[in-house]
Amino acid sequence: MAFQENVREIFKQELNAMRSGGIFKEERIICAPQGSDIEVEFPMGAARKKVINMCANNYLGLSSHPDVVEAARKGLDRRGYGMSSVRFICGTQDIHKELEKKLTEFLGTEDTILFPSCMDANAGVFEAVLTDQDVMIADRLVHASIVDGMRLCKAQQDTYKHSDMGHLEEKLQLHQSARLRLIITDGAFSMDGDLAKLDKIVELAEKYNAMVFLDDSHASGFIGKTGRGTQEHCGVMGKIDIITTTLGKALGGASGGCVSGRREIVEMCRQKARPYLFSNTIPPVVVCGAIRVLELVSATTERRDKLERNTAFWRKGLTEAGLIIKEGETPIVPVMLFNAKLSQDVAKDLYEEGIYAVGFFFPVVPKGQARIRTQLSAAHEKHHLEKALAAFTKVGKKYGILHKTKQEVIDMYGM
Ligand SMILES: *Cc1c(COP(=O)(O)O)cnc(C)c1O
Repeated sequence: MAFQENVREIFKQELNAMRSGGIFKEERIICAPQGSDIEVEFPMGAARKKVINMCANNYLGLSSHPDVVEAARKGLDRRGYGMSSVRFICGTQDIHKELEKKLTEFLGTEDTILFPSCMDANAGVFEAVLTDQDVMIADRLVHASIVDGMRLCKAQQDTYKHSDMGHLEEKLQLHQSARLRLIITDGAFSMDGDLAKLDKIVELAEKYNAMVFLDDSHASGFIGKTGRGTQEHCGVMGKIDIITTTLGKALGGASGGCVSGRREIVEMCRQKARPYLFSNTIPPVVVCGAIRVLELVSATTERRDKLERNTAFWRKGLTEAGLIIKEGETPIVPVMLFNAKLSQDVAKDLYEEGIYAVGFFFPVVPKGQARIRTQLSAAHEKHHLEKALAAFTKVGKKYGILHKTKQEVIDMYGM
């Protein structure tokens, strides 16, 4: 037997260390379509419980939208179930080209290439575009998939302190002799919910002859007046050289990602990006759903407007209740608890109250910055948010953390 007991033991020990370290992740089983009202089985085998979902990336409430489901169903009938091919052999249908065109129009770019996911887009794009004569300069809080993509690329790597434009400028000066400089940032940062200073980044890119890479996964569809993302919010539409984003969050939430931007860069990806060349095509059913999503978000800003109102209501409500949140304008609203155990206890009690949100602590966020990350959706109605606010208030009172300063909470519970 190849997998001998002593081998098994190695993995068992590592897994046990994760359990005792409190970093072992367990799946919550959702027994319903994705939405605001869901039924959850947690832990596995426990009785199912009806809860309000406050932790999905379903920002526009489109994950189970009837129009999207209907379009996907029709897609299944029109173009079948699977492609059994990568894109460049026999995996490109008319609908794939149509979706790429729609994304290009929506993002205001020159061209777009689909990937199986945004993780794959980020894994493929840097290596396809840059060489060892180039340099990548990334914000220190970029998404894990960007970190992985950068590892696969031979270009020199450097970073700048999170959103620190002075530090970025120093790095740009330092790397003036490289063939190409690529500044790399997320649009909305997923843990704090803050937005990149994209206008300043573009200004520096122009000053120091650099390109700009933006991963707008947590912004596409709802940030900016018409939901075009961080580039619209910051007034730099058309000035971003490479945008990656996901179809797996606001834009229907099924799966898929893309690289969108300068024509030649997208073409380089078609020629060289490995996840595009060597992984199967997004299935027709998902493509047709996503086409419908883009039609919906292009036709009206109703959903992103509602999300904005929900976000304002929620941020104001939590603040007035006396909880400490990370200031910002995105629908990612972290409720700061600082102490890791406290974040788990509060999340557990909220669940008992019928509110589903997850506590994050080190190593997902820095030590002493444990929190419950709440995420708003256009699928939330006032009654959802009122119930959730009442639950946060009740649980906050139980732990004595309402209307306390950060220091007072830390004095009570430690970091
Ligand atoms: C979610 C996310 C991804 C991954 O997207 P998938 O399509 O799910 O692979 C990549 N980058 C950022 C910034 C994300 O938030």
